[in-house]
Amino acid sequence: MRVLFAAPDSYWPRWSQPLQAACPEMDLVRDGDPASIDAIIYAPGGEIADLSPYVNARLVQSLWAGVEKIVTNQTLTQPLARMVDPGLAQGMAEFCTGWVMRAHLGMDRYLQDGIWRNDVVPPLAKTRPVTVLGTGELGRAVAAMLGTIGFPVTGYSASGRAVAGMRVLGAQHLDEALAQAQILINLLPDTAETRNLLNAARLAQLPEGAWLINPGRGTVLDDAALIAALDSGHLGHAVLDVFRTEPLPADHPFWSHPGITVTPHIAAETRPETAAPVAAANLRRAMAGEPILHLVDRSKGY
Ligand code: NAP
Repeated sequence: MRVLFAAPDSYWPRWSQPLQAACPEMDLVRDGDPASIDAIIYAPGGEIADLSPYVNARLVQSLWAGVEKIVTNQTLTQPLARMVDPGLAQGMAEFCTGWVMRAHLGMDRYLQDGIWRNDVVPPLAKTRPVTVLGTGELGRAVAAMLGTIGFPVTGYSASGRAVAGMRVLGAQHLDEALAQAQILINLLPDTAETRNLLNAARLAQLPEGAWLINPGRGTVLDDAALIAALDSGHLGHAVLDVFRTEPLPADHPFWSHPGITVTPHIAAETRPETAAPVAAANLRRAMAGEPILHLVDRSKGY
């Protein structure tokens, strides 16, 4: 099987060996006759934008969980699979849990300034409701880790599909999902339906002092509405990992806002050692004509 590695050059040193090791029967190439390509491994930012010459490719396997940049490519006719990687899920769960604990324990109160601030009894997790927008692969992993600590976690998704151990609200219950969220975590994908979902009206539905953690996608959040909600004192703080423009421009107001923590899209990384076997399994399925895992529904965009 001949597989085209269609990703930025910087990916090649990290990915080529683990992919080849996970799938020794594969001939992993970086160019060549498009008609000879059986499948494509894809990440945004590479040179290949036109997928139409790859007429014999049976699969485009994304190395990223978020597929908004490829699913909207008009030349894509091949089946598209997104990355579902245990390392990615674990990384996202750890990232979100870390920032939730900062919010929950009020870690920012304790400055090295000689003041003995013992007037607040640290609350227990069971008193701190958290809402996770998106109960997909990553939202579920985050909710499970928070649940083990004792946070009451409510999930929100388009379908409201049941998830073991968690209350899940469907699309018509966004008001309720927001109203109870002392900490709101966004893990929704970037689609036509999710863009600007967290606008001024929706941010106003969060409880006074709520924290927002956004490792989902920057397009879900109305930037100006967030700044207004922080400036008015309605929201407590926002931890933002993803942005409408990345890298976040140096003059963007998020950088200097005291109510915002910017992290540079590092919440969860696709790790070659755990993701290469996932990609290999899907490539083999595609070659054998078996059902491909984690297929993207183009009509939904995720
Ligand atoms: P996923 O498994 O596809 O799950 C997506 C979830 O969002 C599903 O629960 C889905 O609902 C829900 N959803 C989609 N559109 C919705 C809408 N309009 N209203 C309500 N719910 C909606 O995706 P995932 O693997 O968990 O990844 C989620 C996102 O995380 C990715 O798309 C990407 O943007 C982001 N991400 C960020 C990083 C980072 O480092 N910051 C890393 C990886 C991924 P249903 O269950 O009903 O379908």
